[in-house]
Amino acid sequence: SLSDRLANTFKNLRGKGRLTEADIDATVREIRRALLDADVAVPVVREFAAHIKERALGAEVSEALNPSQQIVKIVNEELQQILGGETRRINMAKSGPTIIMLAGLQGAGKTTLAGKLAKWLKGKGHTPMLVASDLQRPNAVNQLKVIGERAGVPVFAPHPGVTSEFEEATGNPVQVARDGVAEARAKLHDVVIVDTAGRLGVDAELMAQARDIRDAIEPNEVLFVIDAMIGQDAVNTALAFNEGVDFTGVVLSKLDGDARGGAALSVASVTGKPIMFASTGENVDDFEQFHPDRMASRILDMGDVLTLIEQAEASWDKAEADRMAQKFVDQEDFTFDDFLAQMQQIRKMGSMKKMLMMMPGAAQIRQQLEQFDEKEIDRVEAIVRSMTPHERVAPKIINGSRRARIAKGSGVTVSEVNQLMERFAQAQKMMKKLASGNMAGLPGGMQM
Ligand code: GDP
Ligand code: MG
Repeated sequence: SLSDRLANTFKNLRGKGRLTEADIDATVREIRRALLDADVAVPVVREFAAHIKERALGAEVSEALNPSQQIVKIVNEELQQILGGETRRINMAKSGPTIIMLAGLQGAGKTTLAGKLAKWLKGKGHTPMLVASDLQRPNAVNQLKVIGERAGVPVFAPHPGVTSEFEEATGNPVQVARDGVAEARAKLHDVVIVDTAGRLGVDAELMAQARDIRDAIEPNEVLFVIDAMIGQDAVNTALAFNEGVDFTGVVLSKLDGDARGGAALSVASVTGKPIMFASTGENVDDFEQFHPDRMASRILDMGDVLTLIEQAEASWDKAEADRMAQKFVDQEDFTFDDFLAQMQQIRKMGSMKKMLMMMPGAAQIRQQLEQFDEKEIDRVEAIVRSMTPHERVAPKIINGSRRARIAKGSGVTVSEVNQLMERFAQAQKMMKKLASGNMAGLPGGMQM
């Protein structure tokens, strides 16, 4: 994954405060590869990489993040921004029905989406109606009827009597769209979704028809539906539809497949139009609003790394720190509950090293903390959790047989419990020393 590759790139750079241009080039090269692997279109990758390099060169040195994390953070921010930043909502009509027209290639997932969108809107208290303006494929009208039934919404179709899947729908799709919208208006539906025909490839006749429908019904939204699996073809398809029908938003379909989401970035980047929804399966409920942040980490395939970065940047839990500081002032005994609370604070930070770097002063304490690793925190937590509430506040009572029980309960050896008891005793002693000495300069909760 990209995170592994970046980790490799940076193996030799630890401890460097600022990156050289060569370092940045190496990282950007990895990011470029990751984007290409995610099927982002080549020209989009090129432009994006150049932009990232520019930003990375000018970036301030961060206290909380190491250089590679810093670049990943920049990349993530940029991806999110291109993908639309915030979730874009449907532009609802001020009066009369909100008209939503769907456009896209055949098989993109328009008809399926019509049902999903209708059901989702219905769940929000709207009264949508579907209009079958795809008269191209023999079974298209029927398909929409079935989907409408599943979504529990009415479907306007040219021949209400047609039920046989072998009977070809006939008529003028523009007229059907117009009639459908009129019917929705008359029956007081507040949303009308117009399904249209697609072709296997971009084609002038198809585009002219879509444009005619658009001009006839003047939709509030024209949603361009695109198959996320389409890969490098995404750019040309999106550009053609953008030019042809000037769509207002994008729906990414088939995101349940193994597409890495590159199409999203390509389409959003070359058209500048927001991605509004994601279609994630064949069922009528497999649908969600599009989240740029989730897609960004899907494209980079590094959710964990991003979480870590967030945690490193997140502020220390102020309330807990204050509580701990007050304990010292009051000269209360340091208990295993406090110990556990500190462990959880540390875990929240994601990485011990980072926290150590943020701690001012107290070299002696740092040394102690440095002996911990994340797995050890797991072990320590398991041990403390195997203690009874009384044992935690009165550790003195933890004798040999209690230690054996605790070891068994937490799946560690008795000697590991002994080690923890010893370390705890040291921490307790240090707390006493700190409490009687000068507290200034030490952030509360850091003292172990
Ligand atoms: P249209 O030609 O644009 O109307 O596309 P359809 O809605 O008829 O969908 C084409 C095929 O893709 C159908 O077999 C759908 O069941 C399937 N499909 C549509 N959306 C999704 C999706 O989000 N995930 C999956 N796995 N299949 C989908
Ligand atoms: Mg269709």
